[in-house]
Amino acid sequence: MNRSLAASLVLLIAITGFGCGKSPSNAPAAGESATEADGSPALLTFQRGAMGTRFTIRVWVESSARAEAAQAAADAAFARILDLERIFSDYRADSEIVKLAARPAGMPVPVSRELLAVLDRTQRLSRETGGAFDVTLGPMIRLWRQSRKNTALPTEERLADARARSGWQKVEIDREAPAITLAMDRMVLDFGGVAKGYAADEALAILRRRGFPRSLVAGSGDIALGDPPGGKSGWRIGIRSLDVALAETPEDLSGTVELANAAISTSGDTEQSIVIGGVRYSHIVDPKTGLGLTERIAVTVIGPDAATTDSLATAVSVLGREKGLALIESKPEVECLIQMAGEGQAVSETRSIGFPAVAGP
Ligand code: ADP
Ligand code: MG
Repeated sequence: MNRSLAASLVLLIAITGFGCGKSPSNAPAAGESATEADGSPALLTFQRGAMGTRFTIRVWVESSARAEAAQAAADAAFARILDLERIFSDYRADSEIVKLAARPAGMPVPVSRELLAVLDRTQRLSRETGGAFDVTLGPMIRLWRQSRKNTALPTEERLADARARSGWQKVEIDREAPAITLAMDRMVLDFGGVAKGYAADEALAILRRRGFPRSLVAGSGDIALGDPPGGKSGWRIGIRSLDVALAETPEDLSGTVELANAAISTSGDTEQSIVIGGVRYSHIVDPKTGLGLTERIAVTVIGPDAATTDSLATAVSVLGREKGLALIESKPEVECLIQMAGEGQAVSETRSIGFPAVAGP
C-alpha cells in the first residue's frame, strides 16, 4: 500500500482546540495549564499515563479561581482510571483479569462489580455481533500478540488450542454474587477493546459529580464528552490521518465534528499493524481466523458513552462494511463513519445516515 493511501485510510481522533481561533494542537504536557490568575474563564488540561496510553482531561472553568478545585477533580478522575487499570490491565500481574486467568474451570469465581458491569455489556454485544466482538478471545489475542512480536503466524496446533479456550458462550454470569464461571481452564478475558472507553466514561462522571460538567476525558482515540465549554455549542473533535499525526498542523486534520454529552472512538490504526508473508494484519483479531484483520478498515463511532463507542468501533471493524453498517443502523443512539481501501485502490467512505456533518479542518 502506498503511503498516501494509508494516510487517508486511517483516521485518528484528535482533540483540537475548541474553536477559539488557535490552531488545533494536542494537549500540553502534564502539570501545564492555560490558566491565568485573573479570574477569567479557562480551559485547563491535565494528562497522565494509564492503561498503556495517555489520558487527557480537559476542564472548562468559568473562573481561573476554580483551577485548584479542577485540579483536585482531575486527580480524583485519574485515580478512578488507575483503579480500573488494576481490574482490566493484562500487563499487570496483579490485575483482576490476570488473576482470573489462573482460576480453574467450572467453579464460580467472585468478581468486582465493575468487571461484571462491563462483561454484561460486552456479552450483549457478542450476542448481537455473532461473536465478532468478544472479550473471551484472550487466548487468541495473546497468541496473536506473540505472532506480531515474532512476525510469524501461529501454528495450527496453537491456534486450535486458543480457539478451544475462547468463546463468549463459555462464560456464565451470576449478577447477584457477583461471580462468573468459566467453562474451560486457562481462559483469558481481554477488555482491550472496551476498557479505555469505560475508563473515560467513569472519569467524566467523577468530574461532573465534582461540579465540572464542562469537561472531556480522552484515552487516546476514545473520548467521553460532557457539556460544551462556556459560550460554545460543542467540543470540536478533529479527525485526522494517522501518518501525519505527529506534525500537528491544522492541515493534518481531514475534518472536525462538534459534539457534547456524547462519545467518539476510532478503531483500526496502522500504528499497530504488522506485515507477515506480504500480508498486512491489524491488532484486532478476527475470531473466525484467530489472526489479525487483513481488510483495511478504519471505523469512527459516535454514541452516548465511550464504552459503547469503543467496543462498537472494534466490532464494526471485524464485521466489515455491510454487516457493520447494518449493526449501527439498527441502533438509533449510534452513528459511524467507515473508511476502507483495498491494496492499490482508492479509499471509499461510508457513513450511517445520522453521522454528523464533518466540517473542514
Ligand atoms: P485500540 O487498541 O486502538 O484502542 P480497539 O479499541 O479496537 O483499538 O481495541 C483493540 C484491542 O481489543 C486489542 O488490542 C485487543 O486487546 C482487543 N481485541 C482484539 N480483537 C478483538 C475482538 N474481536 N473482540 C474484542 N476485543 C478484541
Ligand atoms: Mg475499540
